[in-house]
Amino acid sequence: MTTPEDLENAVDIVDLVQRYIKLKKAGTNYKAVCPFPGHNEKTPSFMVSPAKQLAYCFGCHKWGGALKFIMDVENCEFRESMEILGGITGLKIWNVNPEKVKQAKNLYHIYKDAKTYYKSALQKYPEVKKYLIDRGISDEIIDKFDFGYADSWVELYNYLKKSGFDDKMINDSAIFVNVWAKKDKFINRIIFPIQNARWDYVAFTWRIIWKWEPKYLNSPATSIYDKSAILYWLFKARNSITKKDFVIVTEWQMDTISLHQHWFTNAVAISWTALTDKHIKTLKRLTHKIYLCFDGDKAWEKATKLSIENLKNKDLEIKIIVMPENWDPDDYIKSGWDFQELIEKAVSPIWFLIEKADFNINSIDDKKKFLTEILQTLKSYNSIVEKDFYLKEIAKKLDLREDTVYEAFNRTRLKREDNFVENNVKKVEYNSEDYAIWYIINDESVLVELREKIIFRDFISLDLANFLAEWWTIIEKMELQKKERFKALAMKIEENSLSQTNDVVWNTIEKLVKKINLDSYKKAIKILKEKMNSWDMDAFAEYTKVVKSAREMGLK
Ligand SMILES: [Zn+2]
Repeated sequence: MTTPEDLENAVDIVDLVQRYIKLKKAGTNYKAVCPFPGHNEKTPSFMVSPAKQLAYCFGCHKWGGALKFIMDVENCEFRESMEILGGITGLKIWNVNPEKVKQAKNLYHIYKDAKTYYKSALQKYPEVKKYLIDRGISDEIIDKFDFGYADSWVELYNYLKKSGFDDKMINDSAIFVNVWAKKDKFINRIIFPIQNARWDYVAFTWRIIWKWEPKYLNSPATSIYDKSAILYWLFKARNSITKKDFVIVTEWQMDTISLHQHWFTNAVAISWTALTDKHIKTLKRLTHKIYLCFDGDKAWEKATKLSIENLKNKDLEIKIIVMPENWDPDDYIKSGWDFQELIEKAVSPIWFLIEKADFNINSIDDKKKFLTEILQTLKSYNSIVEKDFYLKEIAKKLDLREDTVYEAFNRTRLKREDNFVENNVKKVEYNSEDYAIWYIINDESVLVELREKIIFRDFISLDLANFLAEWWTIIEKMELQKKERFKALAMKIEENSLSQTNDVVWNTIEKLVKKINLDSYKKAIKILKEKMNSWDMDAFAEYTKVVKSAREMGLK
């Protein structure tokens, strides 16, 4: 198994940090403005030491080696930072299939090369470039966003072959209809490359110029392109999102490109889907304010509603930027309208849901259903003034008396929330076995360690024993109340471990193992002695075994 140290040894911290921000040489060190979310500064207090292989911010006091840097900059858990560094260094880590890693690397490479080909092809077609310029896209943006043009059936194929890719790899990329036809799917179309959150090229969107249908198309899903997870331009928008502390999500690339061209640099795009849980998880690490900015048409009203549903109860501040009917953000900005004003006028989800409610006013059932749903949403609002305002709006919308709506709301409120009991349990105490379970949940590679080193399996808690045996099925089956208990514990540990380096984390695990072994040893001795006193013959053999192992482990 690759250890955290192996991973850190395989990368130079200066190269790693440079993937995220530009560094300036300062003596033997490098400096830059702090890249970590939540720290907004103008003069650089972030330093990288190549000699010590450390990154340190004098402003927010976050520091550590490569893995800790990734945890801080991506705002992710230790396990994920190992995966990320595994991807960068090509070292295989727990649970990662080396074949898959290799295949992904090949695909990134193909997409990058294809991007280069398309980009240079665009230069050969002034009429295509003019088409873009006429649409208000500047030369600088064409270059920055890697706009390209697919001009030929076989040139790209030959280009990729020359770069050393075989037919199988080219076929896997799904750029071609099939590799034997050598037919580029995107021919005669403008190309926008899509990158993942670490700036690997993973897919293309293309747009027709001459009048064929469909107008826009996306690459199909491949092993490196999952629409429900990718946020376009996230890698470049990351800093701006954390500094401005909100993100604008648009429905496709062109809207985001337009926003960036007009200095709204905290925009990212999804690809014609609703915002999924994966998107939300990624964004939540950077900011808690999400502004949805979709087209002003019916299809997008639906997508917005679905996104609002997915965003519910995620402890986020959501705003909807309402586009005038049949406008998209790209048109809007290019027509010279003030987008900043739209941002300032952004509405709350509940306003949007009331305004765009879609029900039959003559159907009592429809009305009842809408009322129940909307009141459930309203329940989570804290401000009395807001509640009052929306209750009146709901009454108007449903053509009901205000009293009726208020009464319905009060009834909704009185219903006990399912999680209420769990959320208000008395202060709980955790023991070392609980902590061990938490570490397993948080980072699978710990499991390997613990499986090897925890010895008296029959004398540890049933929960931990189960986890060591088959943790993934256990988590699925775990009762809600227990899950809540571990969630609370996770929060507690995270609070304390913010300033911890990986060494400290692994040291903690080592100490935990020692403590668990010692505790379970004492427990074993006590239980076995009782059994021996009542002449349980098996206990004698067991006792000898336990004492022997304890001596070997240096526990006695
Ligand atoms: Zn900082």
